[in-house]
Amino acid sequence: MDLQTPISNAGRFYKMYAHRLEKLGIITLEDFLYHIPSRYENYSLISRINELQAGEIVTIQATVTEIKNEFTKNGKRLQKAKVEDGTGEIDVIWFNQPFLINVIRKGDLLSLSGKVDWFSRRLVLQSPEYETINDDSPTIHTGRFVPIYPETKGVSSKWLRRQIYKTLQEYRQNLLEYIPDSIIQRNNFYAFSEAIEKAHFPKNLEEARKARERLAFDELFLLQLAALKRRSIWEKQLVGHHFTITTFQKQIEEFWEKLPFELTNAQKKAVKDIFADLASKKPMNRLLEGDVGSGKTVVSAIAMYIAHLNGFQSVLMAPTEILVLQHYQTISKLLEPFGVKVGLRTGAHKGKDEADILVGTHAVLSDEINFKKLGLVVIDEQQRFGVEQRSIIRQKGKNPHLLTMTATPIPRTVALTLYGDLDLSYLDEMPKGRKKIKTWLVRSEKRESAYEWIKKQIENGDQVFIICPFIEESETMQTIKAAQKEYQRLQKEVFPNLKLGLLHGRLKAKEKDGVLQKFRDKELDILVATPVVEVGIDIPNATIILIEASERFGLAQLHQLRGRVGRGEKQSYCLLFTEIKNSQTIERIRAMETMHVGAELAEFDLRLRGPGELYGTMQHGVKQLKIASFSDFPLIEKTRREAEKIFPKLSDYPYLWKKLKYLTTKEVSPD
Ligand code: ADP
Ligand code: MG
Repeated sequence: MDLQTPISNAGRFYKMYAHRLEKLGIITLEDFLYHIPSRYENYSLISRINELQAGEIVTIQATVTEIKNEFTKNGKRLQKAKVEDGTGEIDVIWFNQPFLINVIRKGDLLSLSGKVDWFSRRLVLQSPEYETINDDSPTIHTGRFVPIYPETKGVSSKWLRRQIYKTLQEYRQNLLEYIPDSIIQRNNFYAFSEAIEKAHFPKNLEEARKARERLAFDELFLLQLAALKRRSIWEKQLVGHHFTITTFQKQIEEFWEKLPFELTNAQKKAVKDIFADLASKKPMNRLLEGDVGSGKTVVSAIAMYIAHLNGFQSVLMAPTEILVLQHYQTISKLLEPFGVKVGLRTGAHKGKDEADILVGTHAVLSDEINFKKLGLVVIDEQQRFGVEQRSIIRQKGKNPHLLTMTATPIPRTVALTLYGDLDLSYLDEMPKGRKKIKTWLVRSEKRESAYEWIKKQIENGDQVFIICPFIEESETMQTIKAAQKEYQRLQKEVFPNLKLGLLHGRLKAKEKDGVLQKFRDKELDILVATPVVEVGIDIPNATIILIEASERFGLAQLHQLRGRVGRGEKQSYCLLFTEIKNSQTIERIRAMETMHVGAELAEFDLRLRGPGELYGTMQHGVKQLKIASFSDFPLIEKTRREAEKIFPKLSDYPYLWKKLKYLTTKEVSPD
């Protein structure tokens, strides 16, 4: 047995707990050590009984003279002990723990930590932590700073504390230092084993802080190294398809000329980056990050055209059927005039893989799809796909070029940590003529007048999205029922004279297509939708978006939704409805009124709500950090610098190498 032993193989006792511990992310014995306390209880003040005062949190060391079960006046069970320490005597009480009289016995020498309080007009120690004093080992639940852990049903802090202590005792000598000495010196860090130990059992809060500082560093430092390693693996991949660009100057010119607009400078720069990648021997691995509406699709279209001109096929994969249908239309319109055959593949459309460009949902991952000569893979809204899906699609060609796209505003520093193996292009500029979307928070008392205002706008020819509340992460029946109900209510009670349509993820492909087409053709005034329209829908004539229960969304997500309007020259509006009165909630939503850049909103939300919201629910395949935080930008930068200093000479640091290898085989695929 060692630290890598899974809990389920660590003996009968642990086996019983394996399932419960999994909920806390504890899979191996080592994970116990990385289960870091959420806080500490200060029980370090050791007092004599004759000095105790009501209200104090103290520890006493005393001998039990009596223990018994009693009933209170209102019939509750109570356990009462008398203890004395030579200076005096005090009662100790617990509630509803009748087993205690079998655990604690007369004559035991106990260490007791808890609050001194009045009970039945006597000073007592109430519901304290307790443990027997033993010459061989220090106390762990009392008489010190005591760690309090994230718990789950059937796994208390006290239980965890005992196991963690035991694991530390047994394996301390296995916690070998793996970080280069120079880094430890420069940063004045604790040694590794010391950091682990003091994160759990510090003498004071300063020790706990220093321990966490070291462990947070390690966590991000290893992520940085893993990213650098993936990058170097990628760079070593040799590849056959370097595309020629110069030969096709004429065709490229024609493509630009046929576009109804000129590219923004940011788009031009991204295209230049991509051309350089495509022309190089190693496969492209580029993330195109751009706020909603910044024009990523056309950039991917030119890349696919280049692939076609070089005699290669491309595949464009997007997460929802609705988005795929729209991409199919856009790409066809852009490229079919140049003789490019575009195919469509979703659950419902069985387009062929013989097309020059295949546009599809994850249906393109199916075994049946085989390309003759796949040269370029484009993944839109890449954060919606797992690492595995990304690698399946790439394996349908021989080291094809890869272009991933996202509108999730990930701060640059964080993107480098997560995707250090990618090259990044940012579309940080909007197409000309776009106006800021006027955004208002609308409280319940203003609901009716907001509806009236919308009616007037529709009379002037505007079209409106109404987004129903976000009920659950994935689109469950519950969400759909709520949307159907709201659609009926709006049609009957609010907008009886207008034409409404309903869009949700469970409609058949044909129906979705039909509703969207009607909305595009202005046969519908209002499109009531579940949050599925969040990604990618592009209907320039829609200028108003109303979002129900806006407090349930992250700001980055609200920004994505808002991006459904403001796509043309006309002034657009976003109305954020909420029934919540809480001032913090209001303030958070209000940020939408003044901030209009996705990355800024994401950082603001990150500081307010922590990274869980942004990266936990949106970034599939991204590891949750245990100790460090993605909002700690200085630490992210520092770990990056330190990692670059020693990479790739990792062979000088065998333990670091081992740790990294263990980490990367466990959770980082070469993708
Ligand atoms: P996203 O980056 O959100 O995927 P799209 O590619 O859907 O954005 O583009 C949004 C809209 O902007 C589309 O209607 C597209 O035709 C238009 N567009 C793209 N680039 C430009 C540009 N340089 N100038 C004007 N309009 C543009
Ligand atoms: Mg898009």
